Amino acid sequence: MDWIQWYACIVCMFSKRSGTEEDQIIKRTDIYKKWKLPHVIRRHKGGTRVVAYTQLQVPHKIKHLIWRAANEAIPTLYNLWRRRVVQSVSCPACNSVCEDTIHALWGCHALKSIWEADELTKKLLKYKFSNFADLLDMIFKTQSSMDSDLLAVIFWMIWEKRNNDRMKGCWYSHQEIRSRALQLLHEFSVAKSPQQHHLPPAPARRARWLPPISPRYKVNYDGAIFKDLGAAGLGVIIRDSEGCVIGALAERIPLPISVATVEALACRRAIQFAKDLSIYEATFEGDAEIVTNALRAGTSNHPEFGLVINDSLALASGFRFCNFAHVKRLGNLVAHFLARKAKSGNVLQVWIESIPDDIAPIVSCDIL
Ligand SMILES: [Zn+2]
Repeated sequence: MDWIQWYACIVCMFSKRSGTEEDQIIKRTDIYKKWKLPHVIRRHKGGTRVVAYTQLQVPHKIKHLIWRAANEAIPTLYNLWRRRVVQSVSCPACNSVCEDTIHALWGCHALKSIWEADELTKKLLKYKFSNFADLLDMIFKTQSSMDSDLLAVIFWMIWEKRNNDRMKGCWYSHQEIRSRALQLLHEFSVAKSPQQHHLPPAPARRARWLPPISPRYKVNYDGAIFKDLGAAGLGVIIRDSEGCVIGALAERIPLPISVATVEALACRRAIQFAKDLSIYEATFEGDAEIVTNALRAGTSNHPEFGLVINDSLALASGFRFCNFAHVKRLGNLVAHFLARKAKSGNVLQVWIESIPDDIAPIVSCDIL
C-alpha cells in the first residue's frame, strides 16, 4: 500500500452510535449497510488546513464553501439524510453512489472529465479519499505542484452547477468548468491589483522540486535552528532522476552564529554525504540564495560562512559534475523536514535507500 492510500485510509476511523426510534433505525440501518456509510463523521482538527484556506487567492465565497465542505457542512443528500430531511442518498448525477461531500465534489463519475483533463488530478483519481477533508489535505500538501486556487474554484463551480441543475438547470457543462474557473481566477487577480491592468497576466510560477537528468543526482539540503537546545539541524536528501531516495541524513550540530552559516554547513554536509555514497555527479540545491550565490561565485570571503563555502568548494572539486542551484522553500521541503527531524533522536541519523515514515509523504508529493 503506498502512502497516499495509507493516508486516505488511516483518517477514516469511525465510531458507532445507538438510535432510539426502532422503525426508523431499521430503515436507516439498511441505508447505512447499502451505502456502507459511517455512523458518525469524524471531524478533523485540520490546523494546517485552516492556514491553507486563508492563503487561497480566491473570492471569499469560494473559501467559505471549501471550509464548509471540509467540515461536512454543505447540504449534500447524505448530510440532509443524516438530518432526516430527505429519504434517499443516491447521487442523481450517476444514480449509483451515495452523494456525500467527497462524491459530490470529486468522486462522481460525471466529474471525471474535469479531473482527467489535468495530469496531476488524473493521478489523484487512482486514490480513494474517505472524505473531502482528506482530499484537501493532499492538495494543500502538494500545492507546490498543484494549483490549489484553481482547484478551489473548480470545486465551487461543481457545487454551483450541482445546485443549479436541481433548481432550474445550469447553462454550462462539466467540460466547460475548468476554462471558466481559469477565467474567474484571472478576473479575480486583475480586480485585486488594478494598477497592473495594463500588464499581461503573469504565468503561474510555483517553486517545486524537479528531478535531475539521469545519470545525475540531486542533493537537497537545508538547515534548522533549535534555539531552545542551543543547536541546529542539518537535513540532506539525495534522489535520482526517478525521484527515488538514494540516501537521507539528519544531523544535530552546535548552534553557529547565523542562519546563513547553518545553510552553508548543510551544503558542506550534503557534499560530504554524496561523496560517502560514491556519488560524483550531482546538483546541490538549497533554499538560501545567499549561500547558493556564494557557491556559484567559486570563492567567498564572507566573514561568517566564507570558510565553510571554500571548504565545500574544495570538497566538490573532486566531482565529475557538480553545480549549485537555488530553489524556493516549497521545492526543498524534504530537506527542511529532515533538518527539523535532527531535533530529536541520535545526533546523526542516516537512511540509505529509505526515508522515515513521517517524511515519506513529502517525498511522494515531490514526484506527483
Ligand atoms: Zn454521482
